[in-house]
Amino acid sequence: MSGRDSGLEEAETASGFSDLSDSEFLQIEEPEAGDSEKPSCSLGPPTESEGGDVAKGNVLETAKRKRSHVPLEIFHLRYLSVTDISAQVWCEQQMVYRRERPDLTPPENIVLLNTGKSIHLARELEDHDLVTVSTTSREDSWAIKVLNLLGMLSVLQEGHRVREFPVFGVLENIFVVGVIDQLGYTPKGELELNELKTRNNASMPSAAQKKRDRFQVFLYKYLFDAMVRGCLTPDSFLQRLHLRPEQPLGPHVQDQARKSGFTVSHFRDLLDLLSLNLTHCEIPAIDRLQIEYVHQDSGAALGTEVLAYDQDEVGAAVRYFLAYWKGQRDSRGVDVEDAWKCRYCAYAGICEWRMGKAGSPAEQWKKPK
Ligand code: SF4
Repeated sequence: MSGRDSGLEEAETASGFSDLSDSEFLQIEEPEAGDSEKPSCSLGPPTESEGGDVAKGNVLETAKRKRSHVPLEIFHLRYLSVTDISAQVWCEQQMVYRRERPDLTPPENIVLLNTGKSIHLARELEDHDLVTVSTTSREDSWAIKVLNLLGMLSVLQEGHRVREFPVFGVLENIFVVGVIDQLGYTPKGELELNELKTRNNASMPSAAQKKRDRFQVFLYKYLFDAMVRGCLTPDSFLQRLHLRPEQPLGPHVQDQARKSGFTVSHFRDLLDLLSLNLTHCEIPAIDRLQIEYVHQDSGAALGTEVLAYDQDEVGAAVRYFLAYWKGQRDSRGVDVEDAWKCRYCAYAGICEWRMGKAGSPAEQWKKPK
């Protein structure tokens, strides 16, 4: 159906790229710096390296050494996206190479990415029009995201479906953003999250891909539930994203806010409004999680997975994955049982993790790409 050769299709599936359809790829990325405050809502007790005083004489030296090994700083990131963290489930080292060596990203992956984006956009347009708003500052850009969130909260509160719902939160001291494909209520009144995954192959994904998708959806639920419990404070935005509360909002942003029924002049006004809405909204936690797999070319439904949420699982995984971003451990490639992924990986030729395993008795590591 797709006209692609079967070898290529197998490679795309094995690289985890055949369902690159996340709404988050529609969002803007921007550069960043670090932060130091405790999270307002936590997935669990702080990890060893988060707490504890260091003897003063060693503070500067330790900080200097740590800074140079903190990927968040190396990649100039103020925040991570849910898809960044989910990519670590497939192969953390591959995610790192994708950032370090975009020149090695196969062009067919970019085509798949763009097709996925178009399908998400088409679904979004079924529910509402897109409006372009001119922005003049970083605060303006974030104000637009907050306005989107405020608008969708009221639609959800009225019992209707929303698409491309933004979620924000602080995990392990790191600001994390995501976009939930769809939220709506089942006939029984349960709040249901539906994640759309478009696939190049007309088949359900492998177990390894499902594992990554499942983690992604768990993370959305964690962030959403914390938001509607009132855990997202104005300070979460201001301190972690280094935004200026007293920054006047641009005229187009103020105009857009007015059309949405809000009178705001400074960024802080909007954050206070969001905090108030989240604290007093009566939106429940997400009850039901499902992933819908759709064939990119034909639009045919391939299947639906309903997931049983496991907070302990997501908590442990988040602590482990974010430890890499904070420079608390080195990046890792795949374990031996997943060495088959390397055969289809665009970075196999430069991957130090794989090369380091080449002397391993396991035959999988030795096979060329
Ligand atoms: S070659 Fe293997 S270990 Fe290295 S980045 Fe690719 S999948 Fe990961």
